[in-house]
Amino acid sequence: MLRVVLAQPRGFCAGVERAIEIVERALVKYGPPIYVRHEIVHNRHVVEDLRTRGAIFVDELDEIPTGATTIFSAHGVARVVEETASRRGLAVIDATCPLVAKVHNEGRRYAAAGREIVLIGHAGHAEVEGTIGQIPGKVHLVQTVADVAALTVADPEKLAYITQTTLSVDDTRQIIAALTERFPAIRGPDVRDICYATQNRQTAVHELAKAVDVILVVGSQNSSNSNRLREIGAELGKPSYLIDDASALRPDWFAGIASVGLTAGASAPETLVQEVIEGLRRFGAIEVTTLEGVAENVRFRFPPELADSEPAEASSF
Ligand code: SF4
Repeated sequence: MLRVVLAQPRGFCAGVERAIEIVERALVKYGPPIYVRHEIVHNRHVVEDLRTRGAIFVDELDEIPTGATTIFSAHGVARVVEETASRRGLAVIDATCPLVAKVHNEGRRYAAAGREIVLIGHAGHAEVEGTIGQIPGKVHLVQTVADVAALTVADPEKLAYITQTTLSVDDTRQIIAALTERFPAIRGPDVRDICYATQNRQTAVHELAKAVDVILVVGSQNSSNSNRLREIGAELGKPSYLIDDASALRPDWFAGIASVGLTAGASAPETLVQEVIEGLRRFGAIEVTTLEGVAENVRFRFPPELADSEPAEASSF
């Protein structure tokens, strides 16, 4: 019998729950269509579900009619996007995760103190683009230890670093060590910009890897924190697969193994995890257990426009 071990915690974080509920509440309060700049969270199923309920996802603001209700995604946006929205007369509701906004504030504080900023993060990710665009002055993006060696800065005595919220804790520690070795005067938050949900899910994958032969991570290909979970599983020596849903399961992954670990990125709904469990059942008998892990009770306030509105009646998640 295949043993299926569930990681704890897994799946939705407080920032994702809030962002999805912001769209749901806006749909109830203002009625469709509600425009959302960028995928509200990086999950294909969540985006598709909200689309069927009247959300319209766009890449840029010029696709939105003047005056329309517009939601900024959980990843945050650059200043120029906020300014353009204001100029266009869009009624903006900001679903930026408060923990991303905290990093924006931190970067602005360092910049106001005359420090040049080094952002540790992944080029092209929506959060990174938003964070760079929230900080006045030069922001250097570094993705690897090698990038640190290649950095050219104005004044090594006046530097600070901040990080993307969904990075690998272990990789980030190495980059920070390289930064502090090359620039001893640099200031920064250590790995505290990496959010509680990312850290907890990574810790849980470390535990999972001790207990199973193969690891499955439910999450979309463009989800940063889900990719990190898969990479950590692989680095710990376990074949690890990132899957959108049960349809991606392949029987040959489980041939001759005794146990499979299952987790989900912070943007992946628990319904998909349960469907994967059902999918595994189709390959043969399974026994499901859950690892112990920290209990999360983080909740974030809603933006003022929606604080008193009714929660959506029936969330699909
Ligand atoms: Fe916020 Fe972390 Fe969730 Fe991103 S993963 S939305 S930073 S709580």
